[in-house]
Amino acid sequence: MANETARNIGPVILLGPPGAGKGTQSKQIVDRYGIPQISTGDLLRDNIAQGTALGLQARSIMARGELVPDELMYGIVATRLREADCKRGFVLDGFPRTSGQAGWLDAFLETEVFDKSKKCPPVVIQLLVDYNQLLLRLTGRRSCPTCGRLYNIHLQPPLVNESCDVDGSKLLIREDDREELISGRLNAYEQQTRRVADYYRAQGRLVAINADRSVGEVTAHIFSVIDEHCPGGC
Ligand code: AMP
Repeated sequence: MANETARNIGPVILLGPPGAGKGTQSKQIVDRYGIPQISTGDLLRDNIAQGTALGLQARSIMARGELVPDELMYGIVATRLREADCKRGFVLDGFPRTSGQAGWLDAFLETEVFDKSKKCPPVVIQLLVDYNQLLLRLTGRRSCPTCGRLYNIHLQPPLVNESCDVDGSKLLIREDDREELISGRLNAYEQQTRRVADYYRAQGRLVAINADRSVGEVTAHIFSVIDEHCPGGC
């Protein structure tokens, strides 16, 4: 096997509705290929925590379960992708979410980030999940505020109700995972993000995979797609 943490991988784009497993699968890719995960949801939450101007604008939009306007997203994404750790590639989790963002990203990648001689086109993987399964994943999602461990009270419950197995902290529900907001988030996904898949499909760049399987099975499938896309390193 080639040294997966030395070769160029290029950009990996994971598409899928909230709850499809983008975050979980991104972490697997990070571990195997040694490239960073760029989660725009996390970048926005960091901005909120730090009280930046962007964070102040994004906070109420996110709390309503709506999408932050494209123009606000470009600056934070560009700044992050220009950092040195993105040179061999990166996993985008939660971006692009509109066709405008997809077009912007193509233009950005054409001109920046990679050494042109080694440039590798993005591999775009769509995670397909049944709607009822998504509802279970989202309404059950909990995290430990102390150690960050993730749980699902329906699918991967803690040993003791609503408490972390590791340190006993009371588990938290993410603000936008509240049940009344979930259908809004899924609708926003349907209306806007589906066009992102259409954008890449029209160019023959979309690989759709069944993400209703176990985490390990989905991970193995994703690795095979990445390795086929970029077999010898770019
Ligand atoms: P996530 O953690 O990916 O589920 O994102 C949480 C929230 O952040 C979303 O519901 C949006 O409000 C906002 N957000 C994250 N990524 C984007 C994006 N690419 N474009 C617009 N809004 C975003």
